Amino acid sequence: MKTKAYIVIIGAGISGLSIAYNLAKKGVKDIIVVDKSHFLAGATARCGAGVRQQWATELNCILAKKSIEFFSHANETLNYHRDIEFKQGGYLILSSSIAEDEQFAKNVKLQNSLGIPTRHLSKEEALEIVPHLNPNSFTSATFCHTDGHVNPFLMSEAYYLAAQKLGVDFFFFNEVKEIILEEGLIQKVITDKVEIDTHKVVNAAGGYSQEIGQMVGLDIPVYSENHEILVTERTKDMLGPMVMSFSKNIYCQQVPHGSILMGRNNPKALHNHDISSSWRFLDEMAKTVNHILPEVAKQRVIRTWGGSYNISPDFQPIISDTQVSNFFIACGFSGHGFMFAPITGELLSQIILGEELEAYAKDLHISRFDNMENIDREHSVV
Ligand SMILES: Cc1cc2nc3c(=O)[nH]c(=O)nc-3n(C[C@H](O)[C@H](O)[C@H](O)COP(=O)(O)OP(=O)(O)OC[C@H]3O[C@@H](n4cnc5c(N)ncnc54)[C@H](O)[C@@H]3O)c2cc1C
Repeated sequence: MKTKAYIVIIGAGISGLSIAYNLAKKGVKDIIVVDKSHFLAGATARCGAGVRQQWATELNCILAKKSIEFFSHANETLNYHRDIEFKQGGYLILSSSIAEDEQFAKNVKLQNSLGIPTRHLSKEEALEIVPHLNPNSFTSATFCHTDGHVNPFLMSEAYYLAAQKLGVDFFFFNEVKEIILEEGLIQKVITDKVEIDTHKVVNAAGGYSQEIGQMVGLDIPVYSENHEILVTERTKDMLGPMVMSFSKNIYCQQVPHGSILMGRNNPKALHNHDISSSWRFLDEMAKTVNHILPEVAKQRVIRTWGGSYNISPDFQPIISDTQVSNFFIACGFSGHGFMFAPITGELLSQIILGEELEAYAKDLHISRFDNMENIDREHSVV
C-alpha cells in the first residue's frame, strides 16, 4: 500500500471519481482516492438518476448544461465498455399556481438565454407528452427535451475504470480520521489503516464534508439531510420524461429497464446523517403520486431507501479552494450532485492546477457565504 501521494481525494462518490479522472487525464501522478466504505457507499448510489437543466439560477443552469454535454459523449470519452444509459426523455415540470407560473416564465427566459431549449406548455400540450397526468393536478408546465436520465452505477464505474487506467489508486475501507497540518500546511492524511504523506487534499466526502472540513479547522456552511425515495416493479412504458412538481413535492421517472423511481422531501427532516426509510414517506409519497399520476400509483413498490443531501445555504455547490492552503472542496450539492459531476471534476482540477477559470466558476467559491445577502438562492428544488 502506497504511503505517499501528490494529492489525496477523500470520497469515492461520483464527485471524487470525476475529480480524480480529470486530474489524471491532465497528467497528474500519485493520486490516491480514499473511501471509508465500499464502492458507492454514499449518496451517489442512492440518487434519483435524473439530469436536468431547468434551474432558476444562472449558475446551476450553466453547470447542468455543461454536464449534459459531457454525458452525451461519456461512453466514448471514458472509453467505457458498457453504456451509461443516457436517456434524453426530458423533464416535465408542473406548475399549479399563478405565482409558480410567473416564476417558470422567468426560468424559461433565463434557460433559453443560455441555450437550453425549454418550452412553456399549456395543460393540453403537457397532457400530450404524459397522458397519464391527472389534468386537475396542475395548470401548465415547462418541458426540456434534452433533460433526462443517466445510470449512477454505470456512470460511476465508467469514471472509476478510466481513472484507474490512468494510474489513480483507490483505498476502500479506509476512513479518514485526521489531517495533520504543520504551520498551516497539510502534511499527512491519517486513515484507520494507513498514514499518507501528502501536501494536497480534496474534500469530496458528500454528507460528511462538514466533518472533514473540521479536521483542518474549516467551518464549511453545509448540512446533511435525509431524502427518501422508492422504486416500483418493472412495468410497461408509462412515462417518457421525468415528471416533477416543486409545489406538490414530487419527482417521478421511469428508468430504461422499466421500473419507476419517485421521491419527495420531508420538510421536517432533521440536519443529521440519518439515511433510514420510513412508513411516513411511503404513505405521503403514495398520496402525492396518486393525485398527480393515478395510473403510476397502481404499480407495486419493491423497495424504499434514504440518502443524504449535503446542502449549502443557496442550494448551489461549493467547488473551491479554501483559506487552508491546498485544501479543496466539492460539496453542498443538495439534490443535484450526480448530474453536476462532470463539470465538478473539470472545474476542481482547474482550480487545483491553477488554470484559468471561466467567469461563472468564481461564483462557486466558499467565500460567497461571507455575505449572505448577496447569495442567489436556487428555488427549483425537491
Ligand atoms: C434520494 C436522493 C435522490 C437524489 N436524486 C438526484 C438526482 O436525481 N440527480 C442528481 O444529480 N443528484 C441527486 N441526488 C444527489 C446526489 O446523489 C448527490 O449530490 C451526489 O451523489 C453527491 O456525490 P458525492 O460524490 O459528492 O458524495 P457521495 O456519493 O455521498 O460520496 C461521498 C463518499 O465519501 C465517503 N466518506 C465520507 N466520510 C469519509 C471519511 N471520513 N473517510 C473516507 N471516506 C469518507 C463516503 O463513504 C462516500 O462514499 C440525490 C440524492 C438522494 C439522497
